[in-house]
Amino acid sequence: MDNNRENVLQDTALIFEIKGNSLDDGPGIRTVVFFKGCPLRCVWCHNPESIRKAVELSFDEKECLGCDSCIGVCPCGALDRAAPHFIDTVRCTLCLKCVEACPSAALSRVGRFLTVDDVLEAVHKDLPFFKTSGGGVTLSGGEPTLHLDFIEILLKELRCMGISTLLETCGLFDMDRFADRVFPFLDMIYFDIKLMDEEEHEKFCGVSNHRILENFERLCGLSRTGGAEILPRIPLIPEITATSRNLEAIASYLRGLGVSRVEVLPYNPLWMQKLRKIGVSSDWGGNEIMRTWMKPSAVEACRDIFRDFEMS
Ligand code: SF4
Ligand code: SF4
Ligand code: SF4
Repeated sequence: MDNNRENVLQDTALIFEIKGNSLDDGPGIRTVVFFKGCPLRCVWCHNPESIRKAVELSFDEKECLGCDSCIGVCPCGALDRAAPHFIDTVRCTLCLKCVEACPSAALSRVGRFLTVDDVLEAVHKDLPFFKTSGGGVTLSGGEPTLHLDFIEILLKELRCMGISTLLETCGLFDMDRFADRVFPFLDMIYFDIKLMDEEEHEKFCGVSNHRILENFERLCGLSRTGGAEILPRIPLIPEITATSRNLEAIASYLRGLGVSRVEVLPYNPLWMQKLRKIGVSSDWGGNEIMRTWMKPSAVEACRDIFRDFEMS
């Protein structure tokens, strides 16, 4: 089977991780399903392995034992110690023979085509924790709505099982299809708002924010008539989103829509290590401020901006 086909069957989706027992992605203990593929290209992407809607090969230099078993089995000569990222992605056909030969999991496959039943099987393991903790299932990524047919079926199944559902989204999707087919089966939506200035959004996220904001406004309207609760979330990226000008503009926009709750996400520089593993270089990697964790006082100063607008 060709590993790079975007959708092998209609009822499969490309998923790069299912994380059980998570305490970080919504209320209570949750199973988090990470979908692969995203229409944005944020320069700080916290899950860079999620962006391409294709299976990829990851190489973790720190785990490598230097045994060269992988080089011996590669039929394409795609592994070369002299190459900048070890894997020559142009030559690699993703046969994954090197992954099977690797004794240390330094080489690994990123992304599998899974069925709804595969996901439900993973969810079943966490079922006992959902009731006691008020948890459930979170769809994350990447952008789950790129797999709309799949998440519609999955969400319906979860609703039948009485499991709480949460979607984390970048907000760029076909709103008419989303409103009809996905929104009715969600309990909560975490909606990322990154930059209010359209040109900056294009520069740092690769697309205009026009449709994202339009979708947010329509979702707020839908939410007011019942259904899923919407929580806007703002990733704090030093000198990009975490500026007083941008945060004040977001706060003012949200207050204008009657939103009173917001979550800010402190900056995490670990994305750079993940980027290296999939052999992608970044123009931002050499930027000292992007390599540094944000100080708690700086995060609080950002939260204060929203408090000034009477938001919690
Ligand atoms: S929207 Fe999220 S997953 Fe997509 S590129 Fe931006 S940070 Fe990465
Ligand atoms: S996946 Fe196959 S072609 Fe690619 S580097 Fe590994 S062995 Fe070589
Ligand atoms: S097989 Fe694995 S451990 Fe051995 S050299 Fe290749 S990547 Fe490193």
